[in-house]
Amino acid sequence: MLSQLTPTEYEIFLILAASPIITNKQIAISREKAKASGVPTALSNISEHTVASHVQKILEKLDVSSRYLLQEYAIRQGIYCPNVNCTCVKKK
Ligand SMILES: [Zn+2]
Repeated sequence: MLSQLTPTEYEIFLILAASPIITNKQIAISREKAKASGVPTALSNISEHTVASHVQKILEKLDVSSRYLLQEYAIRQGIYCPNVNCTCVKKK
């Protein structure tokens, strides 16, 4: 269940929902850049390896078999909408 995710896991979940083909390394790099530019992030000093273990936990907690299915999960839960200009999903 989503409520079981830690803030760090939830942040990675949102990244994967928005861009399923992103690699663990790209997630780590994008968070480093976000942090450097002052964007609030739950992920500090995260390594590619750490991202991988978070992703594994996310899949277990949400009972989803692959990271590529997280976007479908997020859409079903009303957390992510693939339509860029759509306002159906509340922006956090
Ligand atoms: Zn929408």
